[in-house]
Amino acid sequence: MTTDATGHILVVDDDDAGRDMLERRLRRAGFEVQSASSGREALERVAAESFDLVLLDRSMPVMGGMEVLRTIRRELNARDLPVIMVTAEAQGESVSEALDAGANDYITKPLDFRVALSRIRTQLGQRRAERRLQHSERRYALAVEGANDAVIDWNVVSGELYASPRWNEILGLPPGENPRLIGDWFNRVHPMDLVRLHQAIQAQSQGIHPNLELEHRLRHADGTYRWVRSRCKAVYGPEGRPERISGALMDITALKTADPLTGLPNRSYLIEKLTQSMETAKATDAPLAVLFLDLDGFKYVNDSLGHTAGDELLTGVADRLSTTLAAGLDDTVMMSRLGGDEFAVLVIGRGDGKAEAELIRRELSEPFRVSTHRMYVTASVGIALYNRSYTAAHEILRDADTAMYRAKALGKNRLAVFTDEMRAQVTERLRLGNSIRDALVRGEFQLAYQPIVALADRSLVGLEALLRWPGAGDVYATEQVVRVAEETGVIFELGQWVLEEACRQLLRVHAAMKGCRLPYIHVNVSGVQFATGDFDDRVMDALKLTGLDPSWLGLEITETAVMKDVEGVLVSLKKLQAHSVRLSIDDFGTGYSSLSYLNQFPFDTLKLDRSFLHHLDRAHGNAEIVRAVIQLAHALNVKVVAEGIETVEEAIWLQQFGCEYGQGYHFSKPMFEPELMSFLAQSAPVEATDFPKG
Ligand code: C2E
Ligand code: MG
Ligand code: MG
Repeated sequence: MTTDATGHILVVDDDDAGRDMLERRLRRAGFEVQSASSGREALERVAAESFDLVLLDRSMPVMGGMEVLRTIRRELNARDLPVIMVTAEAQGESVSEALDAGANDYITKPLDFRVALSRIRTQLGQRRAERRLQHSERRYALAVEGANDAVIDWNVVSGELYASPRWNEILGLPPGENPRLIGDWFNRVHPMDLVRLHQAIQAQSQGIHPNLELEHRLRHADGTYRWVRSRCKAVYGPEGRPERISGALMDITALKTADPLTGLPNRSYLIEKLTQSMETAKATDAPLAVLFLDLDGFKYVNDSLGHTAGDELLTGVADRLSTTLAAGLDDTVMMSRLGGDEFAVLVIGRGDGKAEAELIRRELSEPFRVSTHRMYVTASVGIALYNRSYTAAHEILRDADTAMYRAKALGKNRLAVFTDEMRAQVTERLRLGNSIRDALVRGEFQLAYQPIVALADRSLVGLEALLRWPGAGDVYATEQVVRVAEETGVIFELGQWVLEEACRQLLRVHAAMKGCRLPYIHVNVSGVQFATGDFDDRVMDALKLTGLDPSWLGLEITETAVMKDVEGVLVSLKKLQAHSVRLSIDDFGTGYSSLSYLNQFPFDTLKLDRSFLHHLDRAHGNAEIVRAVIQLAHALNVKVVAEGIETVEEAIWLQQFGCEYGQGYHFSKPMFEPELMSFLAQSAPVEATDFPKG
């Protein structure tokens, strides 16, 4: 097929004279050349034979060069078959169009043969180099596979099994203890894999699948399991029954258990190791601790510096911690990556894990280098200690996770040990989730409405709907109810009810306020509500059901919720914006997003978190921050609502800083319907103007 030193070239040109001349000159230069006088013929030849390169004329009648190129590229990429485009025009659009469509290079007409020759040689040289590399890679992979494989041969008739010495190595067996019967294999198979293995062998015996390829676990001499990939072929006897099944077994434990980014053991390996350690702990009463570790503010790194930087940081943390934790020790400490920025450390038979947690904290106190940045990282750590009430690995891991959340809630960068009190809280949370569901069915929830006013004249521009549960005697703070509703999934029904109820209420308000400037309704939505991907439809459902025009509705979504699922939230928000629904980012300043980042989001208003209002007096730094945030928001064409204004001074400061709107006890507390209606009746009517879009 190929004269390797030179190459097999297809010349495609409708101009007979030009094509013939090129063909001759290329032959003289040592190439094997074929030609085609039309696009169709070119495609037929490419389909029938293997070429090393195509010289393709761009302008041909009927089927032009671009179409030929695109058709070729559907099957063969630029490495498989280089194409050099021959174009009449110099540089310019036609060239970039060809390159975009997958041409490797181009030559312009009239053809300078030396230029053509040098470009052809470059392409062919590159292609050969790549081929060689692929070849050697494949050879290398084969060699590694060969070295890794244990060879097995099973005489199906007698039940005897031969396994090469590598079998013993993989499974940690002494050299003499080779398996002799097929039972020696099956007895080592993980109970959860046994059925699959039997099924595969059955299929092979019946000739359904003559090749068996299966990944399964085999018990190592030390009691742990190794992952192997079995690849076997059956040899059938005259009656069509398999007589022998033979093949190779490769140890793929490292592949199956390592986290690809950090190389640490992954979650499934951790669970396996933890299960085994729990058995030992149960039998020997030796201590066993599980540390659950989560990096504080890791999202910030990912979102501000990009995922590559995030990955770099994770690898750095994993390397440093695993090295220190394992330094000079046997395998009594094992670190694994659970996913994202979550890690777990098993501390086996060496105490309560606090020393290891302290070690982690110390190790992290040194900065990390991520591309050009020096970066400090802290972690929140939760510890759960084994006791006999634990029956499964995931239970103890879950409790370590709960403790980690406590550490975060206590202000991050700290350690929390799982206690019975936390266990009680977990139970309580589940119970509360059920009560919320019941309360919703019984209609026990209500909404309170807090006015949003224009700071310039204190006129009413909007109402924020806030969830209340009077039936529960206000034992639970709204935030807690919302959090539990999110955790237990009730938030979908609850959130829908809030939306509909708020819309209905606004229509009643509008009816009562004829002739005045009418307020908007702001509804808080949870990030969880976005998770289903059809949140925008749910919102439109509520609007249709109640008959409220979309432009009267504003949705408030917290900064943290946005940052949790940037892509997902963005899609829904854009759809909502297209329906003229107003969008606010809530509690701004409590999360990690930067204003410039928020530029991508279609927010109309930003709600400045109440925490900014502390120490607004000019002597204190907060004033400068607030001013800067407001200015930046305005630069992005976003209006600002200050939350939680409690004093007249705060209102004045904020107005001076250019903040348009405010909300807080200074103006009014949230009110239920009757109180709201009399509040509205008392407030001075204002003529209609627009809010909050500028
Ligand atoms: P948010 O959306 O930032 O609501 C403002 C919170 O500040 C409300 O707390 C409000 O009562 C309180 N507040 C208003 N003015 C002042 C003030 O001058 N001083 C102080 N100290 N606080 C003031 P609330 O009602 O407890 O709600 C807490 C959070 O719960 C809300 O924060 C919101 O994120 C969430 N939330 C409330 N209702 C809903 C809801 O229907 N759905 C969802 N998903 N979340 C809701
Ligand atoms: Mg809000
Ligand atoms: Mg807020």
